Amino acid sequence: MVHIVGAGPGAPDLITVRGKALLEQADVIIYAGSLVNPVLLEAAKEGCQVYDSARMTLEEVIKVMEQAEREGKVTVRLHTGDPCLYGAIREQMDELDARGISYDICPGVSSFCGAASALKMEYTLPQISQSVVITRMAGRTPVPEKESIASFAAHGATMVIFLSTGMLKELSEELIKGGYGPKTPAAIVYKATWAEEKTVVCTVESLSERAEQENIRKTALIVVGEAVAQNGYERSKLYDPVFTTEFRKGTGEGPEDTPLCPENMDRKEDL
Ligand code: SAH
Repeated sequence: MVHIVGAGPGAPDLITVRGKALLEQADVIIYAGSLVNPVLLEAAKEGCQVYDSARMTLEEVIKVMEQAEREGKVTVRLHTGDPCLYGAIREQMDELDARGISYDICPGVSSFCGAASALKMEYTLPQISQSVVITRMAGRTPVPEKESIASFAAHGATMVIFLSTGMLKELSEELIKGGYGPKTPAAIVYKATWAEEKTVVCTVESLSERAEQENIRKTALIVVGEAVAQNGYERSKLYDPVFTTEFRKGTGEGPEDTPLCPENMDRKEDL
């Protein structure tokens, strides 16, 4: 059995309880050494075989998994953040499927959540943005043309940009080309939740300059949009004393002027 596990964004106590239990059970751990905090490996039991996938090809990773499977061992494949984002897990799972090796996935706290916590930020502020675009600049892995940074920027939503710290000049240009004003608030979050964490709040046009000043070249996320300023938003209806929700009676006078909180109406539709 192979468990694909999200390690969380960096702080070793931000792995899930399930992920930690799987690490403790594992006979073999293959971890993404470039980003996973090695402190997590202290949870491994004695005699556990540990491999750093930063030095391995997909074929080598699969070989280790196959061998472990033949010996009836439990393997944990430890990915940074949550494995569903830029984790290259599909190709692994296809190889495991082809060999009849079973696997499951244990989610993790993605670094885009770690970055929000570092910035003490809510990405989805009423009247500012209700959407988060997770994307990256094209690198060695191309990005489909329809998903250009400029085309997403045109929405003016909150954007979290992965894997692009080395291309901040080009990123700013693309963001501005798409419609963000040069002074739109932006942030750089380096090693969110690690001891070395650093946050820089700047503007779309100053991203590259500020990263240079702070000597940030990798392991960072870029957050862009009016939401970064964390002001000018409208209060939520869910906690507005006037509104009645499924769980709480509002202060509106009669039934006709006791508005139902819109979030609550959504929930009723869901039911
Ligand atoms: N699956 C991971 C992302 C892997 S891609 C997740 O869910 O977070 C690797 C990129 O993620 C890095 O280049 C960087 O942009 C970002 N990243 C990963 N950990 C980070 C952290 N602790 N702080 C800031 N960015 C991080």
